[in-house]
Amino acid sequence: MAKHIFVTGGVVSSLGKGLTCASIGMILEQRGLRVRLQKFDPYINVDPGTMSPYQHGEVYVLNDGSETDLDLGHYERFTHAPLTKDCNYTTGKIYLSVIQKERDGFYEGKTVQVIPHVTDEIKAGITRLATDDVDVVITEIGGTVGDIESLPFLEAIRQFALEVGRENCLFIHLTLVPYLKAAGELKTKPSQHSVGALRQIGIQPDILICRSEVSIPQDERDKIALFCNVDKKAVIEERDRQFSIYEVPLSLVKHGLDDILVKRLALKTNPLDLSAWSEMVDRIINPKQEVRIAVVGKYMKHRDSYKSVYESLDHAGFAHRARVLVVRVEAEEVSTRGSEALLAGVDGILVPGGFGMRGIEGKIEAIRYARLNKVPFFGICLGMQCAVIEFARSVLGLEGANSTEFDPHADAPVIALMEEQKQVTQRGGTMRLGQWPCSLVPDRLARKAYGQERITERHRHRYEFNNTYRKAFEEHGLIPSGTSPDGTIVEIVELADHPWFLAVQFHPEFQSKPTHAHPLFRDFIAAAIARRGSGRTAAD
Ligand code: GLN
Repeated sequence: MAKHIFVTGGVVSSLGKGLTCASIGMILEQRGLRVRLQKFDPYINVDPGTMSPYQHGEVYVLNDGSETDLDLGHYERFTHAPLTKDCNYTTGKIYLSVIQKERDGFYEGKTVQVIPHVTDEIKAGITRLATDDVDVVITEIGGTVGDIESLPFLEAIRQFALEVGRENCLFIHLTLVPYLKAAGELKTKPSQHSVGALRQIGIQPDILICRSEVSIPQDERDKIALFCNVDKKAVIEERDRQFSIYEVPLSLVKHGLDDILVKRLALKTNPLDLSAWSEMVDRIINPKQEVRIAVVGKYMKHRDSYKSVYESLDHAGFAHRARVLVVRVEAEEVSTRGSEALLAGVDGILVPGGFGMRGIEGKIEAIRYARLNKVPFFGICLGMQCAVIEFARSVLGLEGANSTEFDPHADAPVIALMEEQKQVTQRGGTMRLGQWPCSLVPDRLARKAYGQERITERHRHRYEFNNTYRKAFEEHGLIPSGTSPDGTIVEIVELADHPWFLAVQFHPEFQSKPTHAHPLFRDFIAAAIARRGSGRTAAD
């Protein structure tokens, strides 16, 4: 029977619950256990797919096409746990299912209520992951204890523990222990209050993980233990990371979390082996070189809008023992201030995915700069579509080239709505989503990077390369180097006459791991390092 770990958060949001869950998953996997991870999000959207990146950061896409919270990206980067649509439930998704059942007559005349019907639906979502081949299910409850929205989820996990046996469940509460500089003191009161709020709804945490700017001395940890009714050894410090998020599991193990988890859940495990992970962290802490990569996008002010892209750039850096310095460039500013002013001195340019018209011309200008100045370029999804538009306008002489997303009556619609999208009217979950196979053309950059002919990558788009223009592009040197296996959808294009200019319709950033950089990111950074090494990049 699978054991359960529930992780709640207290005091403030953005404490890194997702990272902590991912780290716990990674530690348990390294002890030979089979883990699954899932997140409950208390908002009413059915999934984050319809939300602006300004609201919740990046939308993370799974193999099965689910559009999920970005914390699932941490789960995949830290563990090997397979993720599916059952790994992210929002309040909206739970209610949608309850209301559908009510319409179908499932409740046989009963009054449908939050307790028990909504809480039952939540519990069913937890049980769905606890299959026979799983040792531990880690469930993250989004939001902060004390929020009205989180209450049904907290009530559901309280009931769940009662049903499967308290000994089979572990409650971890992540809290903040602020350091007041003026007083020179750590403050434990907010944590006491937050645990108090949890206890009021019947949940006594077993472990407290305390986020803090500074180290928490033993006497302060003892005080927290006493007031929060938690074992002294179970008050674990999680200090702000110095270099990288990938240090978190090592720090949690150092503070004893690993043994407590195993003991409290009576898990049969192997000894912990963190050698590969520690080697990776060493590469992060001691890089041998630096490269500067400009990311030209439109949600640059939100830290998490392109989360997986930034992570994948880092991973590629780890592979080369290089620190990747990201220069965040607002696409609109490229139009107003010019590409030279914003891009001179970078070793590579990346244009990520996106939607809508704003910033498009700036992205196109940045791509032109990369093409003409032979700066390594990597385009992702909208980034590929912009590369195609740029080439059509500048090289094929099609001045009116555009995507029908931005100009439905474009003279030369080189990017156009996919046939299957033409009938779609609903917004949520209706794009071309999830994993699709792709065949790679021999002897091109893409094939060399992957080292194989057939790959699968994740997608999230409505528009595509328009095959009417395919021959013209090829004849002028923008080569389709990866297509759907039947050859109809162009998935990758690359420039023949350029050190490294490659753009993809899919999202490779969802398949990169810190210990295994994605091959395209890895080779993009290699090209950037080569450019820097050749002295072609202006001195800083
Ligand atoms: N807006 C474009 C499309 O729908 C690109 C999407 C993306 O970059 N994810 O095709």
